[in-house]
Amino acid sequence: MPVHRKQRSKKPTRSGDRAKTDIRNDHLIFGLLGESIVQSLPIGVIAFDSDLKIIEANSQASKLIKLGDFIDESLAKGTDSPGVPGFDWTKQLKSIMSTGKTREFDSVHYKLNGKTKLLQILCTSLKKAKTARSLGGAVIIEDITEKVDIQRQLANAERLATVGKLASKVAHELNNPMDGILRYINLTMRIIEQKKLEKPKEYLTQCRQGLMRMVHIVSELLEFSRRTYTSLEYVELEQIIEDAVRTMDPRAGACNIRILRNYSRNIPQIRNGNLFQVFFNLIKNALEAMPAGGQLSISTRLAADNTAVVEFRDTGTGFPKEYADAIFEPFFTTKDKGTGLGLAICKDITERCQGRITAENAHGGGSIFTVHLPMADRT
Ligand code: ADP
Repeated sequence: MPVHRKQRSKKPTRSGDRAKTDIRNDHLIFGLLGESIVQSLPIGVIAFDSDLKIIEANSQASKLIKLGDFIDESLAKGTDSPGVPGFDWTKQLKSIMSTGKTREFDSVHYKLNGKTKLLQILCTSLKKAKTARSLGGAVIIEDITEKVDIQRQLANAERLATVGKLASKVAHELNNPMDGILRYINLTMRIIEQKKLEKPKEYLTQCRQGLMRMVHIVSELLEFSRRTYTSLEYVELEQIIEDAVRTMDPRAGACNIRILRNYSRNIPQIRNGNLFQVFFNLIKNALEAMPAGGQLSISTRLAADNTAVVEFRDTGTGFPKEYADAIFEPFFTTKDKGTGLGLAICKDITERCQGRITAENAHGGGSIFTVHLPMADRT
């Protein structure tokens, strides 16, 4: 692939001087490093003369910015201000050339073909070795969009892990006193019922409801932070699903919901590492999404990559498309009495089994939650 070499076009009219000829003759950067090396670099390299006219650029440079005749214009075309009001590339580059200093512009937002990339742009002046006379400069551009994104994700994961640890400690602390309070409320309720005191009974019922909700949240938090599996024996996948279905069956019946099953017979046994909790949460959510009745279809199959796929397809409300990622975040809920922990727990447990969980809206209404579980070698 040829190096993008700017021709001495007649169009650019900025004033010429001897430095321009020198930089061309010397083939700075490209000449010294060798064209093929510069060409294969994953970063953009552009050499320009003292009039800021681009002399040479590798092909990566033209993928990162809109290359024109002049470097300042090319940089300004995608961004005129890396975070500083009144920023001027021409002034910056000229000052770099006159002072001989190198400057780095970090996380510059650059718009190219409708997409904004984050670029790290290093500008340096180039001098003639013997006379130290400025010949122009070079701009080195790296696309750091992905790197910054990964850093953000890592920071987010660390933050979540810290919050998770803290939540687990708080949940442990709250568990015992809450249990005690609940017992005393129950005892008091019994006496109040015997004495037929209606008002205190009503107040205590309210207290108990609030407390039950707290107990529910704390127990889900504890489940979320639990690091060990309750059971590691090998079982049939459908047996775990059936256990979860059986638990929810009375509720489904009461809500006029039919639960259909279609199990594949060729799925090997699987380690029961809290998967019951995953299937239970998915069934519970499906039932809650069908308050006026409906149908939940649960199916299993073995994918070509030896992954067991369990699908929960309901005919409920579905969820807004923009919530597709958010619903797996801890504490995200659209329900009045929701905790927003069910799907976060499902994701956590599935990922600990080296699997993954996805959610999508079904054509014609309802939603589909799919759990992918790699089949480990039993040996
Ligand atoms: P919670 O059930 O306490 O709200 P979850 O983490 O289990 O917490 O669910 C988060 C959110 O995901 C729910 O509030 C709901 O908006 C959405 N959701 C989960 N399952 C379904 C489903 N089967 N159909 C539609 N929306 C769902």
